[in-house]
Amino acid sequence: MAKEELMNYEQALAQFEVVIGLEVHVELNTNTKMFCGCKNEFGNEPNTNVCPICIGLPGSLPAVNKRAVESSIQIGLALGCDIAPTGRFARKNYFYPDLAKNFQTSQYDEPIAFEGALEVEVPSGNKFNVLIERAHMEEDAGKLTHVGGATGRIQGAEYSLVDYNRAGVPLVEIVTKPVFGAGAEAPELAAAYVRSIRDIVRALNVSDARMERGNVRCDANVSLRPHGAEKLGTRTETKNVNSLRSIERAVRFEIQRQAAILAKGGSILQETRHWHEDRGITSSGRPKSDADDYRYFPEPDLVPVQPSKEWIEQLRAGLPENPADRRRRLAADWGFSELEFRDVVNAGLLDQIEETVAAGAKPQAARKWWAGELSRIANDESKDVAELAISAQQVAELAGLIDAGKINDRLAREVLGFVLAGEGSPTEIVAARGLEVVSDDGALIAAIDEALAGQPDVLDAIREGRMQAAGAVIGAVMKAMKGSADAARVRELLIAKANA
Ligand SMILES: [Zn+2]
Repeated sequence: MAKEELMNYEQALAQFEVVIGLEVHVELNTNTKMFCGCKNEFGNEPNTNVCPICIGLPGSLPAVNKRAVESSIQIGLALGCDIAPTGRFARKNYFYPDLAKNFQTSQYDEPIAFEGALEVEVPSGNKFNVLIERAHMEEDAGKLTHVGGATGRIQGAEYSLVDYNRAGVPLVEIVTKPVFGAGAEAPELAAAYVRSIRDIVRALNVSDARMERGNVRCDANVSLRPHGAEKLGTRTETKNVNSLRSIERAVRFEIQRQAAILAKGGSILQETRHWHEDRGITSSGRPKSDADDYRYFPEPDLVPVQPSKEWIEQLRAGLPENPADRRRRLAADWGFSELEFRDVVNAGLLDQIEETVAAGAKPQAARKWWAGELSRIANDESKDVAELAISAQQVAELAGLIDAGKINDRLAREVLGFVLAGEGSPTEIVAARGLEVVSDDGALIAAIDEALAGQPDVLDAIREGRMQAAGAVIGAVMKAMKGSADAARVRELLIAKANA
């Protein structure tokens, strides 16, 4: 693949205005699929959650999943959209091996939700009002696995496997209007927008919202035009980007790539592009015209969805707090610095900290444990911090033990390790392991001085590097304090004293 020429980012922005558009697919967490009774479950044996309906055998008849409609309306309402009083499904006809039906059941000209808006905050603190064009219901396709190639892509593969468990899983596709005016922050805005969508669907509990599993994935449209131009530039659509960081990188790459072509008088090909996480580049996919002929026609096997006004209003009344309002409320309640607050938002720790504070911890202590030690451990184990085997209640308990002077920070980290290993609550662990130690330096120094009085040569020995001499003093301190001293700290204090 020829190496793409890129323009320096600042230079690209000086010459061109960036316009982005985002299409986000959200996989709903319904028990069953969109049009049949098959289980909607991740990670099962391939082709076990399938039936004549979701693989499109002749004579099978679909029926709409009510819960999926409900979830779609909730998403629409949370995005400030109008909900259509009636909406038909349509068949989008195309052939691909992951689509056994030969058409995808989707919504075409009658989406369930339209004309919304979402306020999105980027890391600098700037806020943008992203206009939503529509949110429509559709079904997912199956999953192809290409085996034998180096990259996992079809090129170079020896054979391909198809798993239809995902075929027919309910999706909501949310499409923005073109987003202008983000300038240099367009990549950050794209990522922050997807993060906001993820937060909303998670708060609504309508999706597992795990990007690494593809529950939320983004197609990012990017185009450039000279400053002051009215006509939109030709756009590219980078498909299925499934991490926030990748979205940001992919948009930035496209800006730099397109700018280099346009500056030389070239033209942008309207096409889909693939994002390569490993190399940090996009590559050409397939040409995409605005008039791709999918021969849409109304799905004859499904009646239109006609949600009643009462149902819609009932769902509106049950909406959780809007994420932007929630952030403002928490920022005011917690009193973090702007930077601290932004960091916990960007690390996705609001839920954990809110629950930990609700369980009695001070906000700063909750922040410190979740954003510090626990995030570090999660990172080491390549996990999401939410997956760690510790509850907000337990973190609050740990902070309480520190506040009460029963353990210090160092021991708290030890206790944390035992909690994560499933040994019980912090209080239980401290009791069972006798970790409630005397570790305040004052008491330890007093005990060290007392022990040294009987062994005056020890400090000289330590100074000369004969560390085994320290053992006798540490032993004497432990004995004097009935085993409750923090031995490592005693050792540190003793060495400091010798070298003072
Ligand atoms: Zn099925």
